Amino acid sequence: SVRTRFAPSPTGFLHIGGARTALFSYLYARRHGGQFVLRIEDTDLERSTPESVNAILEGMTWLNLDYDEGPFYQTQRMDRYKEVIDQLMASGHAYHCYASREELDQLREAQMARGEKPRYDRRYRDFTGTPPAGVAPVVRFRNPLDGEVVIEDGVRGRVVFQNSELDDLIIARSDGTPTYNLTVVVDDWDMEITHVIRGDDHLNNTARQINLYHALNVTPPQFAHLPMIHAPDGTKLSKRHGAVGVMQYREEGYLPEALLNYLVRLGWSHGDQEIFDRAEMISFFDIKDINQSASSINPEKLRWLNQQYFKLRPVEETAIELRWHLGRLGVDPSVDGPNPAKIVAAYADRAHTLVEMAEQALPYYRDLTGYDPVALEKLDDDAPGILDALAMALSQPEDWESPAHLDHTVKEVATTLGFKLGKVGPLLRLALLGHGASPSLGVTLDLFGQEKTLHRLRDMHA
Ligand code: GLU
Repeated sequence: SVRTRFAPSPTGFLHIGGARTALFSYLYARRHGGQFVLRIEDTDLERSTPESVNAILEGMTWLNLDYDEGPFYQTQRMDRYKEVIDQLMASGHAYHCYASREELDQLREAQMARGEKPRYDRRYRDFTGTPPAGVAPVVRFRNPLDGEVVIEDGVRGRVVFQNSELDDLIIARSDGTPTYNLTVVVDDWDMEITHVIRGDDHLNNTARQINLYHALNVTPPQFAHLPMIHAPDGTKLSKRHGAVGVMQYREEGYLPEALLNYLVRLGWSHGDQEIFDRAEMISFFDIKDINQSASSINPEKLRWLNQQYFKLRPVEETAIELRWHLGRLGVDPSVDGPNPAKIVAAYADRAHTLVEMAEQALPYYRDLTGYDPVALEKLDDDAPGILDALAMALSQPEDWESPAHLDHTVKEVATTLGFKLGKVGPLLRLALLGHGASPSLGVTLDLFGQEKTLHRLRDMHA
């Protein structure tokens, strides 16, 4: 059965490129009823940090990309890598190289001076002499000298490398620790991975890895290399283009579903459909529909999708995220104020991010800090009378049955006083929210509730 994996190196947060790789691998496994494995590639001890491991796990959890096995940690599999390195040495597929750093630097300089591409010249490949004293050797893979490596890539099609272009890769450093190309092959083999889906920056590695599989007499998995994600201007994506880490998208007010929907469309399409719930993503996803060319991030599209999800998704689920954002603003919605799910329903049309929504929701939970000075300026002598009449009318409990009743009551107050609703409405909003923008009056009043409404009308009057 199908087995895929996501194999991040914990050297930073889970960025959107990584999250897309994880998503595609997850979708492919789910689509085929297979397994999805998480593997932390932490053998680079200098660059790996526990904080990054946590950030990756946290990102996977927030996106709800559940894995069936793992997380496995490469640092816990060192004995196994050693075993395979020994096996390759014993079968003659690997050899010790004693070249010192200075020696290799000289080689490199000489090659560059001749205008050649710098590469290891295999000087210890057939070495039979006495090794230089005091030098701890690295282990190099004995790459075939001729012939070609063919990758039947799920995205790029047939990609051919000449063995003459590949040098003898280091598989163990002089301290005995294995290198990436070795560990990834051992792991994908041991974990019985059938499909390796990863960024196409690994394409060159894939050629080397296939040679390693052959040397180990193991059938390689199938590969699919994803085109890069670029910035809107076509350049390499970096921090200056905005959020890169998945959890940063959360902080900026995006829903996990919206981010996943956005990610799935970065390099994959299904007709001209834009919105996919998870079940649709799983049932439609196919490697053959992955684009060959790079895609670009599109922050406006993410904002648009996020708002679509405000409208589409059950409000209680969105409210979980809204509570988190309110909490960040110092508000505990369970203590005082409307159920956040009602805010979501009322404000879906008026916000593109949860940060925007939480900010607009503050007046419902917190005392007003003041009134919009421009609106205050416009008030005339009619204001106190209108506020009184509103307070009077809204003290009837039966008005609070529904937003429609409330709308009706406010209209009646305006009619009775002989004012336009365009005069009464803004004043009411100002009293409640401190400014003049909100959903319909009925919905706004309903969110405040009777007690708070009457308080605010009185406060403004005073
Ligand atoms: N650990 C590698 C990386 O983060 C990915 C390896 C792979 O997917 O084969 O770039």
